[in-house]
Amino acid sequence: MNPQVIVAGGGIGGLAAALALARRGVPTVLLEQASAFGEVGAGLQLGPNATRVLADWGLSDAMQACAAFPDALRVRDAHRGTELGQLRLGAMALARHGQPYATLHRADLHALLLAAVQAHGLTGLHLNTRLVSFEDSANGVNAALDGGSALHGAALLGCDGLWSRVRAQLLGERPVRSSGHLAYRGMVRAADLPTALRANVVTAWLGPRMHVVHYPVRSGHWINVVAVVHGVLGRGHGGAPESDPRSWSHEARSADLVRALGPVCSDLRAMIDAVPGWSLWALNDRPAMTGAHEHAQGRVALLGDAAHPLRPYLAQGAAMAIEDAWTLGRLLESTPAPIDWTSVLARFANTRWQRNARVQQQSQRNGSIFHATGLVRWGRDTAMRLRGEALLDNPWLYGGPPEPAQDPIPSPHPKRKT
Ligand SMILES: Cc1cc2nc3c(=O)[nH]c(=O)nc-3n(C[C@H](O)[C@H](O)[C@H](O)COP(=O)(O)OP(=O)(O)OC[C@H]3O[C@@H](n4cnc5c(N)ncnc54)[C@H](O)[C@@H]3O)c2cc1C
Repeated sequence: MNPQVIVAGGGIGGLAAALALARRGVPTVLLEQASAFGEVGAGLQLGPNATRVLADWGLSDAMQACAAFPDALRVRDAHRGTELGQLRLGAMALARHGQPYATLHRADLHALLLAAVQAHGLTGLHLNTRLVSFEDSANGVNAALDGGSALHGAALLGCDGLWSRVRAQLLGERPVRSSGHLAYRGMVRAADLPTALRANVVTAWLGPRMHVVHYPVRSGHWINVVAVVHGVLGRGHGGAPESDPRSWSHEARSADLVRALGPVCSDLRAMIDAVPGWSLWALNDRPAMTGAHEHAQGRVALLGDAAHPLRPYLAQGAAMAIEDAWTLGRLLESTPAPIDWTSVLARFANTRWQRNARVQQQSQRNGSIFHATGLVRWGRDTAMRLRGEALLDNPWLYGGPPEPAQDPIPSPHPKRKT
């Protein structure tokens, strides 16, 4: 029996990591600070790079049961309503990338990962349990928990999100970076929408200093709508400047959103008006990764948002957390027992960091392009009209995750002194 590994955080990244390890016979103890497992209600998109992992893990049927599979990504001008470009998804995504492009409710993805973790029976799930600090030593990692208890593991995976404690100790306390953007989130029943807005597509509306994305979730019965505008909590928007920036669910008023969006075409206005209620959160991230040492040191690794938080403008945050977990599982496949965690995590870090950094950079760049004004906007629209499908597809991304290098790789960073 392999010794247990500690996983801090029970979001999509933490569950994916626990599952990847369980599939290789490695037991984990998963710590989640919240009192219940679950995800804040919003949608997410999974490109073929992420659905490829779910298929490899035998979760295609579970995904089919709850996801939607849009026929296209359609980009439209938020003011004029005209189509700027289109990427065919559906059968075309399958033909191009061998895997589907899916849209899901976050809670559904979380639930299917949780069920898979539980089915393996190798993960101890602990709610109301917060990791406070850790100590990396020659024979393992000791984790200190809220309330004074302690835990020992062969390694520690920090899957504790944007505000990660594990990251703060591993890399030093650094404040998150504010994007200056606010995301309004809402859900509407497809049956409550005018027929024209019920199409099985991902629609991205672009306007100056704003964009809106909506797509079907829950097998197409619901539409998830996210509107991103420039602003600060409390100043003309819900929440308050001093309210908890970590919250994903500040109270929001649709009148504020309508004002922030400015004049929009009738289709977009109809979609916004159909949403019965909004919540609001401030979008924060961190600068792109600069080296493998930001992914792992010694027996401690960061996965998902803890390592590489993303702005949501490439729709890859959950996908990259899932890819991280898959890579770790893949590396364990060829690792003889007893597992040398320092070496496995070094290989993991070397495989992952550049791809994650590239996705972080492109996500940030997309935000500027989506919200462009003046000449940049004109250039964007012209390029989209001429080369829409080629610009919107990302073969380098959707073809992933890349296979890890199997050669021994030196540790990305000197072992931590404790
Ligand atoms: C508007 C928006 C839209 C998005 N759209 C997409 C999309 O379309 N596609 C996509 O792939 N991604 C999308 N994302 C990103 C995606 O949601 C995240 O990147 C992904 O969920 C990361 O998961 P994670 O497990 O790393 O972190 P989190 O989901 O933040 O999970 C961290 C978990 O750790 C717990 N925790 C924190 N600290 C501790 C501690 N000290 N001890 C114990 N537990 C702890 C937390 O309670 C939480 O449950 C979007 C994000 C936003 C904001």
